[in-house]
Amino acid sequence: MLKIDNLHASVDDKEIIKGLSLEVPAGQVHAIMGPNGAGKSTLSYVLTGRDGYEVTQGSATLDGEDLLALEPNVRAAKGMFLSFQYPLEIPGVPALTFIRTALNAQRKARGEAEIAAPAFLKLAKEKAAELKMDFEMLKRPLNVGFSGGEKKRMEILQMAMLSPRFLILDETDSGLDIDALRIVSEGVNALRSPDRAMLVITHYQRLLDYIKPDRVHVLAAGRIVASGGPELALQLEREGYDKYARAA
Ligand code: ADP
Ligand code: MG
Ligand code: MG
Repeated sequence: MLKIDNLHASVDDKEIIKGLSLEVPAGQVHAIMGPNGAGKSTLSYVLTGRDGYEVTQGSATLDGEDLLALEPNVRAAKGMFLSFQYPLEIPGVPALTFIRTALNAQRKARGEAEIAAPAFLKLAKEKAAELKMDFEMLKRPLNVGFSGGEKKRMEILQMAMLSPRFLILDETDSGLDIDALRIVSEGVNALRSPDRAMLVITHYQRLLDYIKPDRVHVLAAGRIVASGGPELALQLEREGYDKYARAA
């Protein structure tokens, strides 16, 4: 599904991604771990097409299509979804309105008609029930006064509604308590499907106790320097990143 080959990317003329290669097949969840400053967030921004991130070499394809040639909104329409590390609070905008706007933007970029209000409400109610969310919460301004766990639940709901094909979670676990971690993990596990793939970027092994990744990769100094099964995450927790930082 996602194939990255010898990717090099710069920010402000500083090369951050330095020959990164990675493949994530459909149906799989891969974890990326690595020291601070390794380029993990930069990778997610390059894949989603954020302004200011310049690819200087290499390729990235989604289902064989050149991802890097597409505008960010087209990538989103094709199903690239990056979770927000710090969820937005939008006073005055009900969560439902926000999600409907996002969904319609995605449909527009696909050349589809806007979703009708009754169909939207039906979908929102279904997904909220699946995620054990109180539907009344969706009528409140987005994330305003929500607890950390509620914000995460809201984000998972947005993902479920937008039905991404490729999902990137960038340190979505930072600062979460155990309950919120469980919410995120259950949400991610519920989104697993044979035609969807996910990249979970995390600092901590504990998230991977709940989300069982198919593969774990170490990103250090802009490259994938080691790959393995879930046992690699346990090894990293025991030994740290020192040997990879030195090798990189
Ligand atoms: P990680 O997510 O792995 O902690 P990042 O991708 O956020 O790492 O950052 C990788 C490196 O890129 C860091 O050294 C960081 O200082 C640098 N960096 C990030 N953004 C910019 C920027 N706008 N200008 C210059 N350097 C940047
Ligand atoms: Mg960081
Ligand atoms: Mg980061």
